[in-house]
Amino acid sequence: MLRQALKDLPLGLCIFDADDRLLLANERYLDIWSLPDALGCPGTSFAQIMAASPATESEASKARAPAATDTPSLRRREWLLRDGRTVEVAVRRRPDGGCVALHEDVTEQRRIAEQLTHLARHDALTGLANRQVLVEHIDQQLPRTHRGEAMAVLCLDLDRFKAVNDTLGHAAGDALLREVAARLRASVRGSDLVARLGGDEFALLQWGVPQPAAANALARRVIEALGQPFDINGQRAHIGATVGIAVAPFDGGEAEVLMRGADLALYHAKTEARGTVRFFEPEMDAQALRRRGLEADLRRALQGGELRLHYQPQVSVDPLRVTGVEALLRWQHPQRGLVSPLDFVPLAEETGLIVPIGRWVLHEATRQATVWPADVRVAVNVSAAQFRGGRLLRDVSEALEASGLDASRLEVEITESVMIDDSRQALETLRSLRSLGVRIAMDDFGTGYSSLSYLRSFPFDRIKIDRSFVRDMEANPDALSIVRAVAGLGRSLGMATTVEGVETEGQLQAVRREGCAEAQGYLFSRPLPADEVMEMLAKLDGREAPTRAAATHATPALRP
Ligand code: C2E
Ligand code: MG
Ligand code: MG
Repeated sequence: MLRQALKDLPLGLCIFDADDRLLLANERYLDIWSLPDALGCPGTSFAQIMAASPATESEASKARAPAATDTPSLRRREWLLRDGRTVEVAVRRRPDGGCVALHEDVTEQRRIAEQLTHLARHDALTGLANRQVLVEHIDQQLPRTHRGEAMAVLCLDLDRFKAVNDTLGHAAGDALLREVAARLRASVRGSDLVARLGGDEFALLQWGVPQPAAANALARRVIEALGQPFDINGQRAHIGATVGIAVAPFDGGEAEVLMRGADLALYHAKTEARGTVRFFEPEMDAQALRRRGLEADLRRALQGGELRLHYQPQVSVDPLRVTGVEALLRWQHPQRGLVSPLDFVPLAEETGLIVPIGRWVLHEATRQATVWPADVRVAVNVSAAQFRGGRLLRDVSEALEASGLDASRLEVEITESVMIDDSRQALETLRSLRSLGVRIAMDDFGTGYSSLSYLRSFPFDRIKIDRSFVRDMEANPDALSIVRAVAGLGRSLGMATTVEGVETEGQLQAVRREGCAEAQGYLFSRPLPADEVMEMLAKLDGREAPTRAAATHATPALRP
């Protein structure tokens, strides 16, 4: 019975006496250590066994560090055998000086555990280290910086990756990221670390070379390597990379500080020009701090009712008559006074705050417009970020419903950036807005680049020619001919053209001559608070004197 149990035991078992001679061993024990049956007999010495086991005879076989659970009488050891197997041995000393030991082949368990550890520490798609590993490596290498060695952290972001992913599909996007990983590995020395931080963000860690020259050279190598075209399943793709660098010990003595520094440098590089390198500078920290302050202020502004809308008339030029007003955002800051949208809309776009702010603008503008004559439309500027959120259609219809404004009186002004971002989704949203009855205008026309193709891709109701052309119109014949060409284009596409920024009578004459239907600018009126709109209409159009009706209580801040 006991003999059978020993035989069936899935573990190797052996018992030695105080003189290290075998008292008992089961078959599994002999099996695990590849011992001949003869050595399983009582009386065999431990030394004989050690000498006979092909697994243990080599130097390659070594014990791993003692387990944390060890006590003076119980010891666990893990043996890495020459043939690649791992055997765990637990030995208990007996009071009489002998010992009993259990042996287990844990090769498979250890292999799975190692795989899991690898998975937890590496990016599954590219096999590169992940953020955690990067941070650990930085921490490990930091002490070397005390000995005068510099270390560089490079954060890099792919340019135009999203476009490739959207046009060629996600499988192609994955293939591209794998190829990027391969090019990065090929660009660094063996001792440098390459990590993927997520999405299209990567990081490199470089040490043991003179800084900042080496990091600068590495960044340029990487930009060059990733700037070469990619061949993804027969399709050509062009991307690029932008790099931010922080160097220890100068920019910080902690992994998180260095990573943040490199990230800030990357942010600055991206806003200046894609495909470039920037090193961290302390001023960036101060700027980030100011931005965070402004962001917090802006959040509060939205909740606390510090945002206002001013309205500027849009005028048909022949005969002169106000056809609509454009809602322009203002921030009544308690300390700074009236802040221009040029100073806070970009930040709101970056942080996503533009979504709740834009929603508030829609509600406020449509509500105030209901007070004005029915033939006066209201135009609202909408950012690309609002399209990305996927909620714009709902926000517009809710604003129309809440205010009761007829959809045909609302005009949405978008810029080219909406179409550049994701033109398929943008077009779909534009069509849905149109089917609600809302009008769509292309704002700041002429300031972007591939304008013509965007004009053809959607039947806009209006093209607004950017202010810069009007400014130059009288002095620069090129500007004038562009205004003329766009007006002609508008006519042939059935789109109205509005010239922005008309400040002088001379400019108005030119606008008329070039055949633009509408104009907007200081010549007619500056943007005005809602309660001055009726007065302005009376003045410009000779309409009924103002009734100064309803538009006094403001739309409360809408929750995101
Ligand atoms: P925009 O949509 O092109 O608005 C026209 C800008 O030109 C306004 O600047 C207006 O005050 C200014 N302007 C109008 N006539 C003249 C003129 O004769 N001469 C000069 N020099 N300027 C004139 P503002 O109000 O500072 O707005 C700047 C930009 O901020 C807007 O440009 C628009 O892109 C953005 N913005 C304003 N309100 C909103 C909003 O509610 N949502 C979003 N997403 N963006 C907004
Ligand atoms: Mg506008
Ligand atoms: Mg504009």
